[in-house]
Amino acid sequence: MAGCLAKAGYTLVNSLAEADVVVYNTCAVKGPTENRMINFLKLATKDKKLVVVGCLPLINFERLQREVFFDGAAGPALGEKIVDVVEAVLRGEKVLALDNAEKAKPSLNLPRVRVNPVVGIIPINYGCLGSCSYCCVVFARGRLRSYTVDEIVERVKLDLASGVREFWLTSQDTACYGLDIGTSLPELLRAVCSIDGDFKIRVGMMTPNMALKILDELIEAYKDEKVFKFLHIPVQSGDNQVLAQMRRFYTTEDFKKIVNAFRGAFPKMTIATDVICGFPGETREAFEKTLRLMEEVKPDVVNVSKFFARPKTLAAKMDGAAPFSEIKERSSMLSSLASKIAFERNMEWIGWSGEVFIDEQGTDPNSWVGRNFAYKPVVVKSALNLLGTVVRIKISKAFPTYLEGETIS
Ligand code: SF4
Repeated sequence: MAGCLAKAGYTLVNSLAEADVVVYNTCAVKGPTENRMINFLKLATKDKKLVVVGCLPLINFERLQREVFFDGAAGPALGEKIVDVVEAVLRGEKVLALDNAEKAKPSLNLPRVRVNPVVGIIPINYGCLGSCSYCCVVFARGRLRSYTVDEIVERVKLDLASGVREFWLTSQDTACYGLDIGTSLPELLRAVCSIDGDFKIRVGMMTPNMALKILDELIEAYKDEKVFKFLHIPVQSGDNQVLAQMRRFYTTEDFKKIVNAFRGAFPKMTIATDVICGFPGETREAFEKTLRLMEEVKPDVVNVSKFFARPKTLAAKMDGAAPFSEIKERSSMLSSLASKIAFERNMEWIGWSGEVFIDEQGTDPNSWVGRNFAYKPVVVKSALNLLGTVVRIKISKAFPTYLEGETIS
């Protein structure tokens, strides 16, 4: 959107005070996220034209309309249509561009203003083939619609030419990529990896039931050194009955089979997963099974969420949700277990030496964050601007969420 507005002649400014139009690109995947968005929007100054885009208008338009004064609203993946919305709002019109918004698929060749100059974020498909009972994302992102392998390869080549060295292939579910157009994620990875150049690929999250269908071919494709040995595979619960209630269509045994297969091929693989605590019907025993599963699988990263009923979802109509105090207790138990496991996993990297690609400025001017082959975040100190460079380091310290390394020649 920033790229299209700039191309249309608008000046992107850095402060609300300088702006004539403010465009908020919203998320509403979870209850707390929606609350934060709404509170933000309520604070938006009344002397500016306000355009709300993204998933919130499609997930809870009723609340947006009730609580926020806005001039324009539109869905996610708007692409160049943002220019029409802004122009209409500046003409004083009230714009609601929500029809079929969940079917949007803008060209991958639109101009961009990158958040990070060395990281290229490429949505390989929008939507998914799932019907998870807690999920409101489907209302905003709709059914699976993939870009072709050629479109994605062309985008990668364009970004490489403009200095990108790390690509995030993103989607609601990367494992179902291409099933609507007769191709697949492994095929896409092979095509992207065959592009000449020194770059890395991070594969976005995937659902276990879809990953299972392409497991062997996917592991083969992951063997290319361009692919970070990183797998983000949300399990959501360690209890098969809860998984069935969630309409996830896999079991904990399936999840373990995938993790073990990847770890078998790549022993230092980074495994990230997501868990929802307090799903309706999740008993204490069922939750204990989730803790046991984490202890057994030892994921490097666990994104812990508390269950919040989302609008229009099946789960919102289900009984048996635990009291919120119990849900809070479960998520804190899981968070501390996950942090302990993450620290133990990171301690195993102490003494490792190798290359990291610096893709981010750290918290202070002389610290940089790099990623090694397993997409482990490594903090490196240097007075030089290391962004976009590859440095050789030796890991000296470990923390639950990152490693620290010294540069070596
Ligand atoms: S796979 Fe499930 S959780 Fe993921 S976006 Fe689709 S319906 Fe939602």
